[in-house]
Amino acid sequence: MCDPPRPTDPRPTLSVVAPLYNEHENVDELYRRTSAALAAIGLDYEMLLVDDGSRDATPDLIDDLRRRDPRVVVLRLSRNFGHQAAVSAGLDHARGAAVVVIDGDLQDPPELIAAFVDKWREGYEVVYAVRRGRKEGWVKRLGYHAFYRLLSAISDLDIPLDSGDFCLMDRKVVDVLRHLPERMRFVRGLRSFVGFRQVGLAYDRSAREEGDPKYSMRGLMALAVDGLISFSGYPLRLVTYLGMITISIAIALLVWVFTDAITNGKAPRGWASMVVTVLFMGSIQLFSLGIIGEYIRLIFLETKGRPSYIVRDYSGPRSERPKDDD
Ligand code: UDP
Ligand code: MG
Repeated sequence: MCDPPRPTDPRPTLSVVAPLYNEHENVDELYRRTSAALAAIGLDYEMLLVDDGSRDATPDLIDDLRRRDPRVVVLRLSRNFGHQAAVSAGLDHARGAAVVVIDGDLQDPPELIAAFVDKWREGYEVVYAVRRGRKEGWVKRLGYHAFYRLLSAISDLDIPLDSGDFCLMDRKVVDVLRHLPERMRFVRGLRSFVGFRQVGLAYDRSAREEGDPKYSMRGLMALAVDGLISFSGYPLRLVTYLGMITISIAIALLVWVFTDAITNGKAPRGWASMVVTVLFMGSIQLFSLGIIGEYIRLIFLETKGRPSYIVRDYSGPRSERPKDDD
C-alpha cells in the first residue's frame, strides 16, 4: 500500500499529526479546517492521520482523503494502542521540519497553528497551547485542575499548567523525543523534560465537535497516574514520610500507655481506639503498597521492551523519512 520510494519526495516544512480513534464524525471537518488553516499559512505540509485501530468508518474516510489529496498521509496501527501511543507513532513517521500534534476531535482549533508557526519562526522550538477555558463538565474540569497542580507540585519538572498535547515542535525536539528510551509515553511531560526554547499560547478549549470522548473517566485516571508516576518519585517518598509519621505516633502512644500503666496502674481500655488504629494502619499500608505497585508496574512494562505501538501500514512518501531508526 506504500508509495514506491521516490528520491524526489521533498520533506515538507510542516507535519500535522492527528491521532484518530473512531472519529468518523469529525474526520472530514478536521481535514477541511486544518487544510484551510494550513493553506492560509502558505507553507508546504503533510497531514499525518494516525488511525489508532478505529472500528468505525474512520479508516475508509482517511483513505478517501489520501486518494483526493496526496498531502494526506495515512498511518494505521494494528489495533487500538491509546492516544499517547498514537501520538508517538505519528511523531515517528512525521517528516516535517516542524511537527504539530493536534487532537482529531476539533477540540484544538487548527486555526491556532498559524500562531504556532509565527512563534516557531521567532526561534522557539516548542510552542504549546495552554487552555484558558474548558467547555467540559465540571467533574472533568475539577479533575484536570487538580491533576495539573498535583503534578507540578510533586514532579521535578516544570510541566506547564493546563497544557495538553496540542503543540508545535521543531525537528530537533521531535528527534530527541523519538530517541528517549522509555516506551510508556506521557508526551506532554516528556516534551517539557527535553527543554529547548518553549513558549505557551493561551486559547479557549472548545467542547468536542462530534462523538463521545474516547477517554473514559477510568482512562483519564490511568493517564493521570501514569503521568504522576513516570515524572515523580515523590509518591515513594510520601510512603516513607507516612511511615515516619505513624512510627512517631506509635512511639508516643507506647510511651503514654506505659507511663499510664505504671503511674495509674491501669492500662487504657478501649476497643474502639484499637480498631480505629488497626484499620488506619492497614489502610496506610495498602495505599503504600499500591503506590509501590504502580512503580513496579511501570518498571515491568518498560523492561518487557515491547513496542508502544505496531504499524499495520503506512501510505505516504517513503523516501527521506527523517534519519530512520538510527
Ligand atoms: N484517541 C486515540 N486513541 C485512543 C483514544 C483517543 O487516538 O485510544 C484520539 C482521539 O481520537 C482524539 C484524541 O486522541 O483525536 C483525544 O481523545 P479524546 O478527545 O477522547 O480525549 P480528551 O479530549 O478527552 O482528552
Ligand atoms: Mg477530546
